[in-house]
This record gives sequence, C-alpha cells and structure tokens, in this order.
Amino acid sequence: MKKLKFQTPTGMHDILPEDERYFQEIYKVVKEIADFYRFQKIETPILEDTELFSRGIGMTTDIVQKEMFTFKTRGGDFLTLRPEGTAPIIRAYFQHGFKNLPQPVKLWYFSPFFRYERPQLGRFRQFWQFGFEVIGEESSVIDAQLILIFSNILKELGFQNLVLKINSLGDSNCRPYYRKVLTSYFKSKVNVLCQDCRRRLKENPLRILDCKEERCQQIVSQAPQILDYLCEACKAHFKEVLEFLEDLGISYYLDPFLVRGLDYYTRTVFEIFEEGEKGKAVGALAGGGRYDNLAKIIGDEEIPAAGGAGGIERIIILLKEKKMKPPVEKKPKVFLAQIGGEARKKALKLLEVFREAKIPVAESLGRNSLKSQMRVADALGVKYTLVLGQKEAIEGKILVKDMISGKQKIIPLKRVVSFIKKKI
Ligand code: AMP
Repeated sequence: MKKLKFQTPTGMHDILPEDERYFQEIYKVVKEIADFYRFQKIETPILEDTELFSRGIGMTTDIVQKEMFTFKTRGGDFLTLRPEGTAPIIRAYFQHGFKNLPQPVKLWYFSPFFRYERPQLGRFRQFWQFGFEVIGEESSVIDAQLILIFSNILKELGFQNLVLKINSLGDSNCRPYYRKVLTSYFKSKVNVLCQDCRRRLKENPLRILDCKEERCQQIVSQAPQILDYLCEACKAHFKEVLEFLEDLGISYYLDPFLVRGLDYYTRTVFEIFEEGEKGKAVGALAGGGRYDNLAKIIGDEEIPAAGGAGGIERIIILLKEKKMKPPVEKKPKVFLAQIGGEARKKALKLLEVFREAKIPVAESLGRNSLKSQMRVADALGVKYTLVLGQKEAIEGKILVKDMISGKQKIIPLKRVVSFIKKKI
C-alpha cells in the first residue's frame, strides 16, 4: 500500500467514531461516580511551565528526564505538554485561592496527556486519563475512598477480576533512612545493575525498584523493603488504609516494591490491574496515591492531598478484548426524503422544526432519487419515512409512509411534527 504523505505522529491516534462511543461510555460512568462523591470537574491548559513538572514530578524521574514534550515559545518561555494532571491541578488550587474554600477540595478531570514514550501496547505518546484529586485532607479514609472510586468505575465498566497492588512509601520522616539502606544494598550489587540504574543509584535509588530490566528486577526482589522502615505515623496511616479496604471487602496485594513513576508520592501508592494475560500486557488500568509534599513544592505551603488516574485507552483495549461493546447509538425512527428543488428547500427547514421539537430525524439531503433515499431509510430501519415531493411541497403537504405496514397517507405539512410526536 502506498504510504500516505501525512499520518498521525508516532504514538498518537485519531479517536475514530467507533472508539468515541467507548470514550463516551467511560465518560458517562466516570461523571456519574464523580457527581455521587461530589467531585467538581476541572480542565487545565494542555501546556504549562516546564518547571511545574520538572520540580513537581521530580528531576530524576523517567517522565522528566526522557518523556516530556518541551519547547521554547517565541517569547522565550519553556513550556511542556502536560504529562500528568496532578501538578497542574495543585497549581490551579493555589492560583485560584482554593485553599480559602471549605477543605478538602475534590476535583476530577478527563483529558489528554503527553509522554514521549516508546509506543507499545497500552503505551502511547498522547493518551487520555480520568483522574480524581482530594486536596486538603490527610485522613487515611481518603486514600481508601479513592481506591474504592477507581475500583467502582472499573467494575461499573464491566471489569470483574481486578487486582489491587498497594504499598506505602513513607514520608520525609522515614524515607531518607530507607533510601540510605537501599543505596548501600544496591552499591553492593552495582556491577549487575543496568546502565540506567547505575545512574539512578546516584540520583534516586528508589527509582531502581521500578526498573523493568530482568537483571535489575532480580536484585530488587532481594532488596530491603520500605514497609520495614516506616515511622510510627506512616505505619499507622497505612494500617488504617488497609483496614478500611478490608472492611469494604476490597482485597489487595501488598507490593513492597511498588513506587510508581512520579516522585511526589508519600505514604499510600496503589495500582489496579485486570487479571489475565492481556491485562498484564496492557499494564495498570489506574494508579495513584497520596502526595503530601507536592503542595509545598508548587505553592510553598504544606497541604496534604491524594489522588489517582485511570488510563482510558488501556481500558478500551481490554473492553474490546472482552468483546464488551458500548451501548449502540439510538437510531432515529424517522427519515425525511425529498424530491426536487422546492422540496429540498422545505426539507432543509422542516428538519429544523424537528430539531426544535427534539425528535431525531435522518435525511440524505444531497440525494435526488427517491429510490436511493428509501434504501438509506431501510438500512436505518426507521418506522416512518416522510416524503416531500414537488407537488406536496407546493401544496404544503407531506406524505407519511409507515415502514412496517407499508400504508401511506398525505397530511398537511404544518401538522407533521405533532403527528410524528404522537406516533413515536
Ligand atoms: P500515571 O499518570 O503514570 O500514574 O498513570 C495513570 C494511568 O494512566 C496508568 O495506570 C495507565 O492506565 C495510564 N497511562 C500512563 N501512561 C500511559 C501511556 N503512555 N499510554 C497510555 N496510558 C498511559
């Protein structure tokens, strides 16, 4: 096949009408749940100051070091296509004085994000996420409720075999000591670590826990575990989260090496997967955690917060794999056909009357022959076809054909909308 001159950029996709139906179904479920839990929707710009992300997500994360789409504007500013939603929302929280509102502030979003990743199954350079953030609340009950929200959304969409992985990353009180212990462990294995991890060892040894290289994973499996180094407060917080989950009947799997790809997390981190081969291949459907230090970095004030995000394309890949289709669009029950110039003019206007009356009507205004228009009407399976011929158009009448019985009659054009309203 001849290669087209213009195609979507690597790792980016058109959302075609078929997928748009999945997007809309997911949006509907997410919005219903967001409304129930009283989250308010927010949309931040696609571009932000590069520093918001480099400082917010962490200079030594893969996202900041390798995956940001960054450019210099004509005015000389460095801007970045947002790789995630949390840092911009915290920026907005401060910018709009949300800290003066009753706390916590609960926000949700449904938006596209950008990461310069190596494209593969479930990993794109432009992808969509829905996310929830609870800002201004330190209680462990929020961590559990966020996990509940993500698992509710996924269940509602039809996932039945969800696996929740959870861990605690401690806080600025206990993590530095764990970091030291971890560094000395990895130093003793430095010869086996991959090139990237040798660098990570100097910059941020916790990132090694996230390495996908087989040889590093083997070393990681024997590494000291953070749960053994949590301070009393972090230990208590984590215990409470787990108790809430148990009480809710949400089973979890403690993964002592779950760190997630962003540096801002403190205490609880979680990821939700769908069991099975394809689920594993696609990766986490949702993930998040607590980020009590992020507000300090962005707004210079300590404000506890927690949140998470779900990957929409990944969800769609698995829904398709499960052959779960979003509900089909409601088809119109009426088709409007026209023959001749005068009739076409009237048909164009008549459609507007139907639209105002909120009655969906299909048409094929560009066609001339009645036969080809009737074929379209048949294919749509409408109940009634309205035919405006030249004669009817001049006389202010219209022919109504019942497509099931085949009966037809001519009625005044003025009455057609109320007539159809009664019939359907
Ligand atoms: P994160 O923002 O990294 O915490 O990711 C949250 C969720 O977004 C993940 O669990 C994935 O479902 C999804 N996600 C993250 N990165 C990508 C990507 N490059 N392509 C598609 N989905 C992604």
